[in-house]
Amino acid sequence: MSDREPDVLVVGGGVAGCSVALELLERGADVTVLEPGAEGPSTRAAAGMLTARYECSDDGALLRLGMRSRALHPRFLRRVERLSGTDLGLRADGMLVANPDAAAEEESREMVRWQARVLGTSDSGPEPRMLSPDEAASRHAWASRQVESYLWLPGEAQVDAQSLADALPAAVRAAGGDVRDEAAAGLRVRDGRVAGVETRAGRPLGAGVVVLAAGAWSGRLEGLPRPVPVRPVRGQILRLDPEDEPPTPLLADHRGRYAVPRSDGTVVAGSTMEEVGFDTAVTEEGRSAIRRAVGRLAPRLRDAPAVDGWAGLRPIAGDGRPILGPDPEVDGLHYATGYGRNGVLLAPAAASGVADRISGGGDGGGVDLEPFRPDRF
Ligand SMILES: Cc1cc2nc3c(=O)[nH]c(=O)nc-3n(C[C@H](O)[C@H](O)[C@H](O)COP(=O)(O)OP(=O)(O)OC[C@H]3O[C@@H](n4cnc5c(N)ncnc54)[C@H](O)[C@@H]3O)c2cc1C
Repeated sequence: MSDREPDVLVVGGGVAGCSVALELLERGADVTVLEPGAEGPSTRAAAGMLTARYECSDDGALLRLGMRSRALHPRFLRRVERLSGTDLGLRADGMLVANPDAAAEEESREMVRWQARVLGTSDSGPEPRMLSPDEAASRHAWASRQVESYLWLPGEAQVDAQSLADALPAAVRAAGGDVRDEAAAGLRVRDGRVAGVETRAGRPLGAGVVVLAAGAWSGRLEGLPRPVPVRPVRGQILRLDPEDEPPTPLLADHRGRYAVPRSDGTVVAGSTMEEVGFDTAVTEEGRSAIRRAVGRLAPRLRDAPAVDGWAGLRPIAGDGRPILGPDPEVDGLHYATGYGRNGVLLAPAAASGVADRISGGGDGGGVDLEPFRPDRF
């Protein structure tokens, strides 16, 4: 481990921190990521859906960020694959959202109308549309027929988030960055400028730029100039192993439950939203709730054996939006946190915007960071 002072210290080595690190390395910066391996990181737990439209019905800034990021994903993931030598399983097979009754169908229609108004004439890919249960069956033979209809979201995609979590630090190293097994305890500030961080082992690490990307743990750093209201929200996942190869589209309901078919023939089924602090336990209650919901979506998954299960802590900000960009008072402090329920999706666009503000170049990948300002709370 070298003790040279990097240009940038990134606190947190999940998808938020590593994607910013990769953007900065591409621009020639010297970057060190601190990643102590906390229990229950979100990136490793994620289902990996790259769904910009699903469940997005009232926040235009998030919809635009998600759509932009979904478009950036193929390039971002190809780069991580090339650097790490890992196949990340990117698949863009679309998503079916079950409308159990007429009221749910109307809700879906209203969401699509609202998204069309927000996105206007921008190029937003293939358009969503409503399918009858019979039409849906031709895309997903396992999807339940006991519903009113399905909303078909053709542009939605997925990545293997567990492979991504391993590949990201490897990619940072391969791109010339350093990833250290150390935790930041506090921010060091001198005369209104960032001077680095103090590690939990009591060691000062110097850098002129610090990026706070510690997920659900972000608000715990000492010496921050403002509250960072990011809280952990636990999500549980089950991996099911059905006898037959599952159909390829993502399948979901209106309550955040879903079945994600992986290329190895298993199905990642989730999830829960639990306010239990930093508790990362997998519970019987969580498992049964997921099983019931997924069994309703695809009856053939009802008895599929569960071969694995895990939980992670989503970093959710007070208003559900990520916190991105420079601190207005402390020079050199930048935020890339609060990525919430869709952080894998949002990472490439968020990283591009944050890295542009740090390096003072580029157009932020066409990303407007204003709605995500750290001083909005
Ligand atoms: C069950 C579940 C399903 C999900 N499904 C999806 C999905 O389908 N699609 C999607 O887009 N998103 C999904 N998400 C959300 C997504 O996982 C998160 O938004 C995203 O991973 C957040 O990334 P992060 O890097 O901010 O957080 P994390 O991945 O949690 O990374 C933060 C890192 O900071 C480190 N850290 C903590 N303290 C310190 C410290 N003091 N110093 C240095 N480092 C520290 C931790 O060890 C951790 O690795 C899901 C989340 C869960 C839990």
